[in-house]
Amino acid sequence: MFTKQMQDDDKEILSIAKTIDGSGGPWYQRFRFFITSKTIHLGFRYPKLKLQTFKFIDVLPSLESKNIYKYFKIYLFDENTEIPTFLKSSIQFLINIFFLDYIVSFLILKIVKIFAKLFILTDSPRNLEEIHLSTRPRTYDILGETALSPREAKEYLHQYSELLKILPEVPTGINSKLRTNISIKCSGIETRLYPEAEEVSVRYLQDALRPILRLAMTKGIGINLDMEQYDLKAIISRSAMDLFLEPEFQFYPHFGIVVQSYLKSSKEDLGVWKEYAKLRTVPITIRLVKGAYLEFERIKAEERGWTSPVFETKKETDIKFEENVLFLLESYPYLRPAFGTHNLRSLSYILYHTKRKNISDFEIQMLYGMAGKYKFGLESMGIIVREYSPIGALLPGMAYLIRRLLENTSNQGFLYQMSLGKNLDSLIMSPQEENLHGI
Ligand SMILES: Cc1cc2nc3c(=O)[nH]c(=O)nc-3n(C[C@H](O)[C@H](O)[C@H](O)COP(=O)(O)OP(=O)(O)OC[C@H]3O[C@@H](n4cnc5c(N)ncnc54)[C@H](O)[C@@H]3O)c2cc1C
Repeated sequence: MFTKQMQDDDKEILSIAKTIDGSGGPWYQRFRFFITSKTIHLGFRYPKLKLQTFKFIDVLPSLESKNIYKYFKIYLFDENTEIPTFLKSSIQFLINIFFLDYIVSFLILKIVKIFAKLFILTDSPRNLEEIHLSTRPRTYDILGETALSPREAKEYLHQYSELLKILPEVPTGINSKLRTNISIKCSGIETRLYPEAEEVSVRYLQDALRPILRLAMTKGIGINLDMEQYDLKAIISRSAMDLFLEPEFQFYPHFGIVVQSYLKSSKEDLGVWKEYAKLRTVPITIRLVKGAYLEFERIKAEERGWTSPVFETKKETDIKFEENVLFLLESYPYLRPAFGTHNLRSLSYILYHTKRKNISDFEIQMLYGMAGKYKFGLESMGIIVREYSPIGALLPGMAYLIRRLLENTSNQGFLYQMSLGKNLDSLIMSPQEENLHGI
């Protein structure tokens, strides 16, 4: 039920949202935000074109440069996309008569690379010293997905070690919000993660993680284990719980993990982490997100005839996210809250409740290249924003890029809704209230 108290809360939340939205940094940031939302709106309102573009981007890294146009044609022109037939034929005709295949292939690759660059900080840890970085604290991530061979996993692990060696030592006594951090994708550093053999998988993962944790501790760098698909959740969580309790790691206060609110079990998961942190006597940072593997979870559950672990609707995820925000704040200081979101309603909700509960030791985290306007808006209110900053080449970056494109263009996502030009009041509406309005 939507009570009077909730209505009052929502007025405050709307006012915070207006402040974040209205103080959106320098003009070029606002301009970029405007252009990005228009591109999202225009470029991806055609579902078939969107699907084929993603498929093409997915295969692009495996193509020889001279063949790029050939495959572009197959994916975007031969298929029944929404591009008008006369336009498809005219473009192909012009390219054929002027022998422009190579040039077009080169241009396509260039454009995708430029686009990828918007979301990827740099292609190697070695460049970190040279590139001009803003003063924002970061959590660095080496781009890569599930490793397909032990050699690939070893190489991925090596890159994490290299990154840790390159990063400067964190000064003692630094504000924890400014502490350098690293995010690790566990399926990238260990191939042998089998849900049906949890015990042994946990052991393999812990063996892979130990050297990284040791190295991070010597430099005072924080470590966060990213959360991936649902069937790895138990392995990743158990590995973390046992490992962080080992004598050499038990008292290190800069370890963290992710909880995904689209999981029906997320609130119970938070409860388990709270009890664990009490037992450990040292806080654990929880990055609360909504979850990035929605379609994958649904398809997999359907394929196997299982009940889906994720909610059916965005509204349910949003309601659970807000419940989890409150639970996380109530669990402070055992759990240290970090919130990963670009949604203005979620951001304002978090700021409202952290203020009410007088908690200042919390983090807002956002992805590199996304929602720049809100980052500036928050910073102008004195809130420090940590940027999740991927490092890596185009090839391992493709899956990451596609997840970001999907997020930006998903028609239920906040950024897409905003690109439709909806007014702030409706975008900031409580998910509980949405029930009443049937949205
Ligand atoms: C710093 C940072 C780190 C992150 N780390 C991780 C990580 O380790 N693991 C991970 O999984 N994700 C991670 N994410 C991604 C995150 O889970 C979200 O996918 C992303 O932030 C979009 O959520 P939002 O709140 O910004 O936007 P919103 O537009 O408010 O929410 C979009 C999200 O709502 C949910 N949703 C959308 N439609 C539906 C539907 N029909 N039914 C149910 N739920 C729906 C999905 O989770 C979707 O991603 C991270 C995000 C950030 C910013």
